[in-house]
Amino acid sequence: MDIIVSSDGTTKFRHKLVDGLMIESVVIPLRDGKICLCLSSQAGCSLRCVFCVTGKEGLFRDLTHDEIILQLEAMWDHIKPKTPTSIVFMGMGEPLLNYDNVIKAIRTINDRKRYNFAEHKITVSTAGVADRIVDFGNDCNAKLAISLNSADDKRRSDLMPINRKHDIEAIISECKKFPVSRRRLLMFEYIMFKGVNDSTKDADALAELLKDIPSLVNLIPFNEHPYSDLCRSDPDVVLMFKKRLMSKGIKTFIRESRGQDIGAACGMLSP
Ligand code: SF4
Repeated sequence: MDIIVSSDGTTKFRHKLVDGLMIESVVIPLRDGKICLCLSSQAGCSLRCVFCVTGKEGLFRDLTHDEIILQLEAMWDHIKPKTPTSIVFMGMGEPLLNYDNVIKAIRTINDRKRYNFAEHKITVSTAGVADRIVDFGNDCNAKLAISLNSADDKRRSDLMPINRKHDIEAIISECKKFPVSRRRLLMFEYIMFKGVNDSTKDADALAELLKDIPSLVNLIPFNEHPYSDLCRSDPDVVLMFKKRLMSKGIKTFIRESRGQDIGAACGMLSP
């Protein structure tokens, strides 16, 4: 296992699996001493989102339950005596396409005799596997984040080919059936690409789409890398976008980018 530390303290773990495949997981130090652990669910990814390094070579295979837990164990030991504040499945792969192993891993993380970590502090991020959204809501108490990135089907399909199979209407219709609670709102992630999805019109379309869903939006300025021509939106544009959504009643946050210098930031993990 290799450990690579970023100038901002983010720490990337590269694990070699029994068959030689490499997977990555990340310890992300947050404000106020909080720590987030980011897990991978697959080696590679079949969904090939155009902005993501992981999907470039396609899917090698699903990770087993034990391989998911192995990542957690390494990071948990590393941060001792501290414990994580949150755990996210936002690393390599599409968690809802390795559904059984991810649900089993969530149960292990929650198990009193193992990690005893509350399910509502775990977040699973999906590119929008619509037919698993409600199952997920019923099978566990973890949070779900939908990587949306556009409220327009044509543009979303260009960014995320999965949209041709599970379009925005299908995703939103399943989200409306998701069992939300005060502790468990749906999250929508919106990576911001300069001149692609960051106009006031885009913000208005997003607000209109989400108006009936108890949710919050995380805006993520794109982490530029050599495998993509897409560019990061300017900070003032990101701020304008946030204000526009907030003015329409959508709770919105801007996610700080961490670990960019070691390829550990969102969309940069590679097999
Ligand atoms: S963003 Fe997620 S779903 Fe899309 S290719 Fe990358 S790992 Fe797969």
